[in-house]
Amino acid sequence: KVRVRFAPSPTGPLHIGGVRTALYNYLFARQNGGELVFRIEDTDSNRFVPGAEDYILESFKWLGIHFDEGVSFGGDKGPYRQSERRDIYKKYVEQLLTEGKAYIAFDTPEELEKKREEISNFQYDASTRMQMRNSLTLGPEETERLIADGAQYTVRFKVEPNVEVHVDDLIRGDVKINSSILDDKVLYKSADELPTYHLANIVDDHLMEISHVIRGEEWLPSAPLHVLLYEAFGWQDSMPRFAHLPLLLKPTGNGKLSKRDGDKLGFPVFPLEWHDPKTGEVSSGYRESGYLPEAVINFLALLGWNPGTDQEILSMDDLIQQFDITKCSKSGARFDYVKGQWFNHEYLLSTSSDKLAPSFDKILRENGIEAPMERVAKVVDVMKEKVHFIKELWPLCRFFFVAPTEYDEKTVKKRWKEDSAKCMTELADLLEQLPDFSQETQEAAVNAWITANDYKMGNIMNAWRLTLVGEGKGPHMYEISTFLGKDETIARMRRAIE
Ligand code: GLU
Repeated sequence: KVRVRFAPSPTGPLHIGGVRTALYNYLFARQNGGELVFRIEDTDSNRFVPGAEDYILESFKWLGIHFDEGVSFGGDKGPYRQSERRDIYKKYVEQLLTEGKAYIAFDTPEELEKKREEISNFQYDASTRMQMRNSLTLGPEETERLIADGAQYTVRFKVEPNVEVHVDDLIRGDVKINSSILDDKVLYKSADELPTYHLANIVDDHLMEISHVIRGEEWLPSAPLHVLLYEAFGWQDSMPRFAHLPLLLKPTGNGKLSKRDGDKLGFPVFPLEWHDPKTGEVSSGYRESGYLPEAVINFLALLGWNPGTDQEILSMDDLIQQFDITKCSKSGARFDYVKGQWFNHEYLLSTSSDKLAPSFDKILRENGIEAPMERVAKVVDVMKEKVHFIKELWPLCRFFFVAPTEYDEKTVKKRWKEDSAKCMTELADLLEQLPDFSQETQEAAVNAWITANDYKMGNIMNAWRLTLVGEGKGPHMYEISTFLGKDETIARMRRAIE
């Protein structure tokens, strides 16, 4: 059974790279009829940030990524918050100690620092551990005495040197490393009675019956250690398969994407706006910046994977069908935020204007305009092809709701001809007589009048636009006049002529 997990540490807002990791896990679970678990890895209490967990959950709710099990979702393999699993980890730490696969180390941070000064490229491993203060050098009695006296200690994993370790990665194939480059990682700290990430992660993935570990490339260096831990516990036969996803790179392509890139170039790196509880700093989010969640999903899905065709618009269902973890790229994916804006534009076009109307309505209200929702939707419908974001509509659409009080000078100079006032009076009189104000009726009458008088279509339309809009831009004339209605259209025309 496919079981995957997304296991963030609540150390701050979820980075957009984390969202991509969660998305790939979600797609993989869905396409295999599997389950996605939400686990909170909060064993590092120093880095805990209040509010981060709720923020992460809200982000996924907005994005439409659903979990089957875990913190706030329930399930029978909990608790799913690592800080609530202390007793579970203790047992496994004991097991490794009893079997001689781990040992107790008393070295203080100062002692370790001194060693680092003494030995260049110092690493706590098979070559150095016999020079250190640990249960291997002190013996069992002294070790027990120190613990009884209240000395703080760590438990270190005893990595055998010179073993070839294989990480079987779905994206990278067989990754081999020599165990001698690994250090004797700390698995447990007596000071906070908690395991470190590595131990907790392996124990939980095992107990939660995780079949595939799909995570960012930054964890690839830890993977050999994880393989050795599975072996040390005798769990090698049920070890999950790994997939380490490519990094997200700066828009320029050189280096890892950072929050600073977003600040500098003006794009969010977080799904939702984040208010830092410590500094009070506010960071922008995709939601508040006006992105549709479907667009964000589509954009992220293609950072590190593509369907191998030229199809770019993929719904969540398309992605579930087509996503292939083995076809993810090994090299980093450039974060092309301009492409992200393009995706939003595409999704504005394919989303019904009724659904988009409330967000434009909000902006209208902020500008003191109250209009029936059908009219708001109509304007969205006529104008959305011109924008990437709903918020860009206001300056372009103001005239639909507010009559012009000034007329753009340059346009007047260029487009208001000698006979424009006379023509607009005639046109206003003509429109007044129309039995209805449908686009067809207007168009037929206006065309007939232009032909009969031998007027120039362009001149008439330019002048008419100026009276209704106040400048030379806007959608098709009849879209405007029909929206404004007969009375408002004629009122604006008469006012312009005065
Ligand atoms: N807690 C780790 C993180 O924050 C999880 C890494 C993993 O998936 O193993 O990314």
